[in-house]
Amino acid sequence: MPVKTTAPNSAAKSVKQPSVNGAMAAHEANPWAQAMEQLDRAAQKLNLEPYIAERLRHPKRILTVSVPVKMDDGSIKYFEGYRVQHNLDRGPAKGGIRFHPQVSMDEVKALAFWMTMKCAVVNLPYGGAKGGVICNPKEMSIGEIERLTRRYTAEISIIIGPDKDIPAPDVNTNEQIMGWVMDTYSMTIGYSAPGVVTGKPIEVGGSLGRREATGRGVFYVTRELAEKRGFDLRKAPVAIQGFGNVGMNAAKIFQQHGCKVVAVSDVMGGLYNEDGLDVDQLMEYRRKHESIAKFPKAEKIPADKFVEVECDILIPAAMENTINGGNAARIKAKYIIEGANGPTSNAADRILNQRGVTVVPDILANAGGVTVSYFEWVQDMQAFFWDEKQVNAKLQDIIVKSFRDIYDIHETNKVDMRLAAFMLGLRRLAQAVRIRGMFP
Ligand code: NAD
Repeated sequence: MPVKTTAPNSAAKSVKQPSVNGAMAAHEANPWAQAMEQLDRAAQKLNLEPYIAERLRHPKRILTVSVPVKMDDGSIKYFEGYRVQHNLDRGPAKGGIRFHPQVSMDEVKALAFWMTMKCAVVNLPYGGAKGGVICNPKEMSIGEIERLTRRYTAEISIIIGPDKDIPAPDVNTNEQIMGWVMDTYSMTIGYSAPGVVTGKPIEVGGSLGRREATGRGVFYVTRELAEKRGFDLRKAPVAIQGFGNVGMNAAKIFQQHGCKVVAVSDVMGGLYNEDGLDVDQLMEYRRKHESIAKFPKAEKIPADKFVEVECDILIPAAMENTINGGNAARIKAKYIIEGANGPTSNAADRILNQRGVTVVPDILANAGGVTVSYFEWVQDMQAFFWDEKQVNAKLQDIIVKSFRDIYDIHETNKVDMRLAAFMLGLRRLAQAVRIRGMFP
């Protein structure tokens, strides 16, 4: 058995309100509080001027919008949405749009802060942003999702733009939705502006390689880690939580490189096969079904126990806090590569560090997505497009260099990799703040 459980099928019953986060204190469950603790830790380590850390505790712009949508039954429903531009010191704001019932202002603020740090870590000329709408797209029709997307875009169009703030996909948003964002924004200004959003379909200015970019980046950092730690990646069983853009593409790329993906999951449940799952078959199954949870040819694991599965490499690629103080002691993996944003709470980080588990942090591990988003934006702005080989080669250069820079800091300063990544990003950000000075 991959994990011990008394209720093997319980996850399938909790579709609407899945409880996959184990036991968590309220503070641990608040992503903004977690993010600010991470900031404080790095600021202290760097002996940063207090005004710079303070600046990062105050997001630059927070917009709350009310989004009226005509539903298919003729009624009008109001959804609450947010766009947070956390920091613009290094360039225009960049960050995804999430559609999820559990979106909250504190979550969007934290995700925007992590985007600021991530762009600095991989040295992209961007600040950080994030958007979110409280909604359950699983219960909405395509038409309703389109109308929600268009009205939300119109509401935030007062602060987004190719030179101001460039959204992208996140949880429950995809290429088609980014196409609608591009079209809606373009309609409001009167001409096509592909550079307003990334993660679009290729036909309207998207980049080759963007779809797989986050998963590819996850693979590159894992391969680098294997080289540094001297283990054979092809012999290290991999488990991936979340089978969406990040998780599914990571699974595909790991398998293409000869690795064994033994477990995957989505919100409905998990799968385990000691001999390795066939990712192509899983992807085919996912195209036909809403969830992979009932895929045959595998043992079933409840979603709320998934992170405790038997594996060497665990890739959380779903939501925040799935690894927390309530389950960190039972994690079997030796290496955790954060495909998701904020999947490991600070309490869990401390436990994992004590246990000698290496965590490659989100702001490095999943930076492949924003890196190719940057390439997409550059291609849109110059109206000249690259081939996929070029995109992947440039992505690899940036991710590998960032990994090595952070690994050096980790070894030289004897700090965990999260702190090392924060130190690198914060140094760059602080320098931009100092150079720009204080207006007026
Ligand atoms: P997605 O909507 O494409 O997929 C999310 C997947 O996670 C789905 O399979 C869903 O069923 C599953 N899931 C949701 N809640 C779960 C839970 N509690 N337990 C187990 N599985 C659960 O989203 P995505 O774009 O792949 O994003 C996943 C994570 O990666 C998020 O944290 C996101 O912020 C982060 N991320 C995404 C990108 C990107 O390019 N899309 C880039 C960087 C980081």
